[in-house]
Amino acid sequence: MPTSPLNRRPASPLFALAEKGSTTSESLDVYLHLDALEDILDVVNPRDRDEAGGLLAGESDQDDTGPYLLVRRALPARRARGKRISLTFTPEAWEDLWTAHDRECPDLAVVGWYHTHPGLGVFLSEQDQFIHRHFFTAGHQIALVYDPDEFRWGVFYWDGEGLRAARGLYVYSETARSYPALEQALREVTPEWIILHDQD
Ligand SMILES: [Zn+2]
Repeated sequence: MPTSPLNRRPASPLFALAEKGSTTSESLDVYLHLDALEDILDVVNPRDRDEAGGLLAGESDQDDTGPYLLVRRALPARRARGKRISLTFTPEAWEDLWTAHDRECPDLAVVGWYHTHPGLGVFLSEQDQFIHRHFFTAGHQIALVYDPDEFRWGVFYWDGEGLRAARGLYVYSETARSYPALEQALREVTPEWIILHDQD
């Protein structure tokens, strides 16, 4: 499916997966397209104890409210070596990911990476921080962490001094569509982890 440039902050996100971190005007807001959320939910088996991950593709921009990021696609690393505690991207996994990016969404920038922490909670391990510092050095590039056991999400970015939690992770879509994997995930989740967006 071709992706068109959007470059505009979504006016009414459908809901927030996480709202925490810095609330300063310089803080980054991250908007996850339903397609990208579905990409992740499609490949993450909730019963899988190994970590999974991949690249995030999208666009970054800035407005009066501050910098923001639109994540349009999530490309899974099929040959990343998942382990109980940490995910390491092998050279073959990297090659796969860049090939997938060129094939599926060459018009989108690589805006970060994602990986799962099954049952471990949302944080960046030392290994995660190493990966981020070495491979995702641009200011708009994020590390998205997802714990499928509790459907908990978090986003981290480099603010020039350290890795900090982004202000929010909001899910958006331009059109009303049915997302079976999302509906299934939402059925299984504890409602308190889903923060409905305040429309006011
Ligand atoms: Zn990790």
